[in-house]
Amino acid sequence: MRILLVEDDELIGYAVERALKDDGHAVDWVRDGESALSSLYLEAYSLVLLDLGLPIKDGLEVLETMRKAKKIMPVIILTARDSIEDRIKGLDLGADDYLVKPFSIDELHARIRAVVRRNQGAADPVLKSALLQLNTTTKEVEVADEVFSLSAKEYALLHALMANPGAILSKQSLEDALYGWNEEVASNAVEFIIHGLRKKLGKAAIKNVRGMGWLVTK
Ligand code: CA
Repeated sequence: MRILLVEDDELIGYAVERALKDDGHAVDWVRDGESALSSLYLEAYSLVLLDLGLPIKDGLEVLETMRKAKKIMPVIILTARDSIEDRIKGLDLGADDYLVKPFSIDELHARIRAVVRRNQGAADPVLKSALLQLNTTTKEVEVADEVFSLSAKEYALLHALMANPGAILSKQSLEDALYGWNEEVASNAVEFIIHGLRKKLGKAAIKNVRGMGWLVTK
């Protein structure tokens, strides 16, 4: 999943970026409100983590502008303990949830899972396709009654496909879901991860459509 992190505190930003990357997400980290808005026009994000106290434009202004521009991806506000009014304002402006600093990384992961699930209209943490069941809580996948654990990148790639069974995702869109701006991506990285997944889950798990991309059967 590609995530926009908007945070001007270097320590918090670094910790969150690290944790999300370890979890297999692609993260673009910007440190002010203006850069947040321009990033939202450049990339299709699945989620925005938004600090409120930001240079140039504050978080509430970013939120208001993006919602007016019909940017509908979920937003989780990262906020200080004493700003209850801002939190309420944020929720009223269209934020989906908030986290009070300091927060634990485990809570951050759990909130992200919950918000993304709600956003996909699925209360069930298990994504299903014809052959596979992907548990978004345990990050394990079940194939023909066998359960497999996945690496962070394998999970991220399979999650992108399983979020929309039957839809073909191009190499570019899979790369976008897996890698942020400043990450070096080997030219065959996506093929390499898919090769690993097929080895683990069986060739039929992920189908290739020549010249177009990959899908999981609905
Ligand atoms: Ca701040």
